[in-house]
Amino acid sequence: MIYKRSSQLFAEAEKVIPGGVNSPVRAFKAVGGTPIFVQRAKGAYMYDEDGNRLIDYINSWGPMILGHAFEPVVQAVIEKAKLGTSFGMPTELETQIAALAVSMVPNIDKIRFVNSGTEACMSAVRLARGFTKRDKIIKFAGCYHGHSDSFLIQAGSGAVTFGSPNSPGVTEGTAKDTLLAIYNDLENVKTLIEANKEQIAAIIVEPVAGNMGCVPPNEGFLEGLREMCTANGILLIFDEVMTGFRLAKGGVQELFNIKADIVCFGKVIGGGLPVGAFAARNEIMNYLAPLGPVYQAGTLSGNPLAMAAGLAMLQALNNDAAIFDRLAAKTAYLHEGIERVLKANNVIFTINRIGSMISVHFDAAPVVDFKSAANGDNESFKKFFHGLLQEGIYIAPSAYETWFITDALSYEDLDFTIQAVDKVSKTL
Ligand SMILES: *Cc1c(COP(=O)(O)O)cnc(C)c1O
Repeated sequence: MIYKRSSQLFAEAEKVIPGGVNSPVRAFKAVGGTPIFVQRAKGAYMYDEDGNRLIDYINSWGPMILGHAFEPVVQAVIEKAKLGTSFGMPTELETQIAALAVSMVPNIDKIRFVNSGTEACMSAVRLARGFTKRDKIIKFAGCYHGHSDSFLIQAGSGAVTFGSPNSPGVTEGTAKDTLLAIYNDLENVKTLIEANKEQIAAIIVEPVAGNMGCVPPNEGFLEGLREMCTANGILLIFDEVMTGFRLAKGGVQELFNIKADIVCFGKVIGGGLPVGAFAARNEIMNYLAPLGPVYQAGTLSGNPLAMAAGLAMLQALNNDAAIFDRLAAKTAYLHEGIERVLKANNVIFTINRIGSMISVHFDAAPVVDFKSAANGDNESFKKFFHGLLQEGIYIAPSAYETWFITDALSYEDLDFTIQAVDKVSKTL
C-alpha cells in the first residue's frame, strides 16, 4: 500500500484544521501513522486518494449499514436537493420519517429530529431533568454519549464520588451532576441511587455498549436498571445512537424486550447525513417546546436532504424482513473465522459480538466493562491494525471501537478478511 497522496493531504490539512481532522477518532493517534484520505466509496469498499481499495469495517462509524453510496439514499438526496436544500419551515417529509420511526420502535409516541447523536443525548438529558425536576444523572464509564459537557466525565477515585471533568472547559459545577457507574454492575448503581435519593433525573446507558469495543449487557443488567428507575422515579435513557435500527428494527428495546423512557438515535437514522433524534411517550415528549417548558431547537433540524436520506434508509430496513438476521449471520461467520485463525496462531484474545457489532480484544479475560476493555494489549492491536491495513482492510484506528458489519459485505470479502487476519496474526 502506498499512502503518498494521503500523507501530503494530511500535511496540508494539519495547517488549517486542528490535528488535521474534524473529529479526533479519525486521527491515527492510538495506532501511529497518518490518516488515510478517502476519495469515494461504494458498497463494502472505500477507495483512497492513492487509489488503494479498502474493505470497510467502520462504515462511517455505523451509518452505512447497507453499504456505501446505497442507491435509494443517493437518489433521494439528489431529487430533494433540486427542490431546495433548507427552508426553516415544516415539510411533509419530516412527518413521514417520524411516523415510520415511531412505527418501527416500541414504546415511543413522538420523536424530535436534531443534527447529531451528541445533540440527541444532550437534549434527552435536559428533557429528563425538566420532566423530573431533578439535576443529577448517572452514566457508565466507557459509554459515550457525544461531546456535550455532562458526558465528558472520567472515573473518580471511587464509584460513589462525584465526577470530575476529564476535558478542560467542562466546569466542576457541571461535572458534579454526573455520577459515574460501572457497566454491568447493578450493585454499584444501587449504591449511587441510595446516596443520592430523589436527586437523580436519569440513568443514561448504551444498552449494548459499542464505544469500549462491543460490550453486551449481562443477563439481568438492563432489567435491573429498569426496575431501579421505576422504583425511584428516575427516567431510563437508552442511547441507541449506535444500536438503533442496527440490532433490530426497534433497537435494543425490541431485542431484549425492555422499555426505556427516552431513546436517542443517530448514525443509521440519517443514512449517512447528519441526523440525530430523541423519542419518548407523549407524557414526556409533550414537555418539549413549543408544547412544554423544556427548550430545544435547531435551524437545520429536519433538514430535507437529511430527512430524505434517513427516510430512504429506514424504508429499506423496514421493507427487508431478513436484513438483521442476514447481518448477524455474516458477523457470526466472521467471528468463527477470526477465532479459528487466531487460535491456530496462538494469539491471546477475546471476541465480543452481538448482531452486526463485533470487537476483537487482545486479552484472555472477558470484556464486560471499561476496566476489562482497557486491559487489552495495545501493542498487539497496533500491529493488528497496521497489518490489516496493509492487506486492504480498514478497521477503526483504536482498540476501543466496534467493527460495524454492512450488508454490502460478501462472503468472499469475509473469507478474504479471515485470511488476512491469519496472515497478520502470525506477526503478533
Ligand atoms: C456516536 C455516538 C454518539 C454521538 O453521536 P455524534 O453524531 O457523533 O454526535 C452518542 N452516543 C453513542 C452511543 C454513539 O455511538
